[in-house]
Amino acid sequence: MEKDKEVTVEKAIEVLNRAVKSDPDAMDKLFNHRVPCNEILAEDPTIQVRGHRTKGWSIDDTKGIVIKEESNYKVGLLGILNGIFGVDEESWGFISMIEDLACPNGCENPLEIESNKNIKPNCIKCGRQLIHKLTKFERTLSAEERAKQ
Ligand SMILES: [Zn+2]
Repeated sequence: MEKDKEVTVEKAIEVLNRAVKSDPDAMDKLFNHRVPCNEILAEDPTIQVRGHRTKGWSIDDTKGIVIKEESNYKVGLLGILNGIFGVDEESWGFISMIEDLACPNGCENPLEIESNKNIKPNCIKCGRQLIHKLTKFERTLSAEERAKQ
């Protein structure tokens, strides 16, 4: 066993994909789990956090209209892992999670090929609504490659 060597993005992706292959359900649950986090973490230069700050208001019986700022930041494991490797020139992390539509009942090939356009169709075998499920990790396309898409 090698240890304490420099870890590359490729090596990290290899290990992540090995884990997905071993237990796809556990990895899907783990990487789709996000927890609320504060603004300090949300503003980390390389860790990726979802969410934003919102301004809301409520009516208070004694103070009248009260404006308050709230945030709904959430962080997940991928955001942290990407934070280790840094970000590209457009602040994208180097590891991407690839998800596919899958049947929650586990039916194989639950989808008719051309029916996938931002909607979640139903399984052609059992009729349940399909869900997005982690299938693998890949190196994020470079900014140049993304621009061509
Ligand atoms: Zn099904």
